[in-house]
Amino acid sequence: MAAPPPRPGFPARIDLGSGAKPPVGAAVRPPPPPASASGPGAAAPLPSQSRDPIPARARMVQLLAAEGIRDAQVLGAMGAVDRHHFVDGALVPQAYEDTALPIGLGQTISKPSVVARMAELLMQGGLRGEGGRLGRVLDIGTGCGYQALVLGQLASEVYSIERLRELHEKARANLRPLRVANVHLILGDGMAGFAKGAPYAGIIAAAGGEAVPEAWIEQLAYGGRIVAPIVHGPSQQALVVVDKSRQGIQQTILETVNFVPLKSGIA
Ligand code: SAH
Repeated sequence: MAAPPPRPGFPARIDLGSGAKPPVGAAVRPPPPPASASGPGAAAPLPSQSRDPIPARARMVQLLAAEGIRDAQVLGAMGAVDRHHFVDGALVPQAYEDTALPIGLGQTISKPSVVARMAELLMQGGLRGEGGRLGRVLDIGTGCGYQALVLGQLASEVYSIERLRELHEKARANLRPLRVANVHLILGDGMAGFAKGAPYAGIIAAAGGEAVPEAWIEQLAYGGRIVAPIVHGPSQQALVVVDKSRQGIQQTILETVNFVPLKSGIA
């Protein structure tokens, strides 16, 4: 994947030291694993950084800031959500590397830098409400639910839609112990959007089609923004930003990305 064009004004200053305020997401951590997980007969211990992945996540956030993510709320959200909670046990040591990881059924959890970049684009263009949070957001392609939870830190409500039943159930199981009240998971074909939650302050997709579906543009509020991958050139995808105002629709193509395909129907 091509590196995104450099953006000015970084590194952002973030304080991840011990004096830092507790992350917003103190409430988005799952309860500790049952005692048996570390008792006799448990799997060999992970390397120290992975046994306690919190420092690894702080490092990930510092890297995101150094790479140009400047929005403090986005950095806060990336620092608040346990990515290791969303990947299979064997992949936990890699959970805070900047890499996509398999989540089953040929799908992947997106790279942290891509999640942060898209969230930042959404924050820059989406409709903000109280406390600078985004209003209602539609997340297309729940996958394991990681991005939905990150967005839940940034928006008043998140409707996250997944077409694969098994992944929808997996995301449900991942989010259940976290008791997040503002993230709603839906099984359905996100190509049609989710009309019941419309109009949306922002729409974000983790799967790329030939173009941005008309339904998404219709369900976007005036002043809102869509951030999505679309096919761009032979076997390539690019990130596209669609801004909707009463004057019209403005589409901007950004950097090359690499997402799974947007497919229709439920399976
Ligand atoms: N945001 C996810 C990324 C998952 S990968 C995460 O944080 O883990 C993208 C997901 O989009 C896949 O699970 C895929 O099944 C789903 N997808 C593809 N086309 C879709 C559609 N039309 N409607 C809903 N989900 C779709």
